[in-house]
Amino acid sequence: MERSYEKYFRQNRLPHLWCPGCGNGIAMKAIVKAIEMKGLDQNKTVIVSGIGCSSRASGYMDFDTVHTAHGRAIPFATGIKMANPELNVIVITGDGDCTAIGGNHFIHGCRRNVDLTVILFDNNIYGMTGGQASPMTPTGKKATTAPYGAVDHAFDACKLAEAAGATYVARSTAYHVQHLTDLIAKGMDNKGFSFIEAMVQCPTSFGRKNKMADPAAMMMWMRDNAVMKAAWDKLPEEKKTGDKFPIGVLYEASDIDYATAYDHVIDLAGGAGK
Ligand code: SF4
Repeated sequence: MERSYEKYFRQNRLPHLWCPGCGNGIAMKAIVKAIEMKGLDQNKTVIVSGIGCSSRASGYMDFDTVHTAHGRAIPFATGIKMANPELNVIVITGDGDCTAIGGNHFIHGCRRNVDLTVILFDNNIYGMTGGQASPMTPTGKKATTAPYGAVDHAFDACKLAEAAGATYVARSTAYHVQHLTDLIAKGMDNKGFSFIEAMVQCPTSFGRKNKMADPAAMMMWMRDNAVMKAAWDKLPEEKKTGDKFPIGVLYEASDIDYATAYDHVIDLAGGAGK
């Protein structure tokens, strides 16, 4: 049976290197399904990724792709978008790549409202490099660098994106795959910085250290703890505790995107550089 999304993959690069049960493939497929839903031109869509398990996705996807340095996907993507604003530029990053090494680039990409769709595959840990704690490892969860549990408080990357100036912020999970696909597609409609956190299970580096080595059980955890935004907003504060977290469109705003703002500057300067 022909699957319509297969044309978006480099078949000669498959099978992928992700561990059995990893959630990265689910998130990658959600992206190509969203691309298909929006009818984006394969020749005018660029995928940019950083470094880490998640960022290997760009190598499997049959678009113009750039696998950049650790934490640097957003600046590469910004350059691509500014050089040719007609392109659809999608960034794939991970929790370590985006919020640690690339944390500064992340907040400034949001602040500038660059017209990018950034999908953060959040597996709560550095998977590829050996299971170190990332800035999104929940407090108390174990990692190779936190054998007794992480002491630090984890970033809420969605709140960070909103506070820094992103104009579309959403979250879903590998369990809620159609919901995740729809949120990514909606992010592609926003002319500005769109940030989607895709929670993915990492049974190997996170799960095994935290008594959750069964990928199906990790997905059931997502099912049981995710709360749709509309229901979340009605919950009393004392019930927004423990592992519960909201999913859906968490924030939307309207603001001028960076390339358009820069065009105004070029006009003010008399068209130099156009
Ligand atoms: Fe996936 Fe974790 Fe394996 Fe990386 S280490 S491929 S995130 S399961």
